[in-house]
Amino acid sequence: MIEPRNNPAPDWHQATCYLNGEWTALIDAKVSVLDRGFIFGDGVYEVIAVDTVGADGARTRAPFRANEHFARLQRSLDAVRIDNPLRLEQWLDLTAEVIDRHPWPRQLVYVQVTRGVAKRDHPFPAGTVPTVFVSTSPWPTIPNEQIEHGVAAVTHTDERWLHCDIKSTSLLGNVLMKQYAIDNGASETVMLRDGYLTEGSSTNISVIKNGVISTPPKTVQLLPGITVDGIAHIAAQQGVKVDVRPVAVGELRAADEIWLSSSGREVLAIVTLDGAPVGTGPNAAKPGPIYRKMYEWFQQAKQEDARTWQAQRGGSAIKPHVRERAA
Ligand code: PLP
Repeated sequence: MIEPRNNPAPDWHQATCYLNGEWTALIDAKVSVLDRGFIFGDGVYEVIAVDTVGADGARTRAPFRANEHFARLQRSLDAVRIDNPLRLEQWLDLTAEVIDRHPWPRQLVYVQVTRGVAKRDHPFPAGTVPTVFVSTSPWPTIPNEQIEHGVAAVTHTDERWLHCDIKSTSLLGNVLMKQYAIDNGASETVMLRDGYLTEGSSTNISVIKNGVISTPPKTVQLLPGITVDGIAHIAAQQGVKVDVRPVAVGELRAADEIWLSSSGREVLAIVTLDGAPVGTGPNAAKPGPIYRKMYEWFQQAKQEDARTWQAQRGGSAIKPHVRERAA
């Protein structure tokens, strides 16, 4: 079996994407300016991380928690009343195919569905066919520096709408908050609403105190993250207590550890918050002991998930070659 990493990797713009039933070069893929995704941000999306896992000789590429991503896509589509254009099996086939078409050992698969193309007008148009877009890009290794030493975060009032549970392409509020982090020399903005933690600009946030992981409940105020769910599942398996409950700002600032999590960043320790060290004593401003365990457990969970994917898909997504290159 050829190792994916031994294949010459094309640049991201040489990628192929799926647009409305056809595979086409990403750089040439076009949608109408009247697409409601472009005009209104009237669409929903998913980002699914794909890694190469397994021991030498049996290395395989697999998406992490693909079923959960497509279950959330269904919930987002239902919430904005767009009919799901594909069945779960078709989504999984597409995911397998987009991975298969690209040689990258680590990929971020992007899936977007919009309400489709119509004359610009606010009400839902009748009879519009949803636009379906699936692409992938190389997923750079998470810098070891960030895993070993953690990242900085700043806080900001959560000024977004009250449907943050929908994974909507209307991301301006999140974009502004990510830029706020960058402008302040940080890696993430942790948002606060009415004295309580909501989430990061593109991550969920967990706090750890006295060995207990606390994470805010799934309400309209935040995205129900696949990764944070994975963390809760892993913690339960490992006998670490998880408390799903509102987390007050005071608890955030007094936490022993703070973690951010997302498909693209997995789990990282936040070691300073608004410039103040997270944690105390020898663990101050360092990834804490529970983080270090969780990081390892998370890597193991990816291996297990990959085995399930392989068993379900019969290995169809793991051919490590490019079947068809973009023109
Ligand atoms: N919260 C927001 C606002 C996000 O955009 C994301 C991911 O993009 C997350 C949380 C984490 O979600 P997941 O773990 O499913 O990637």
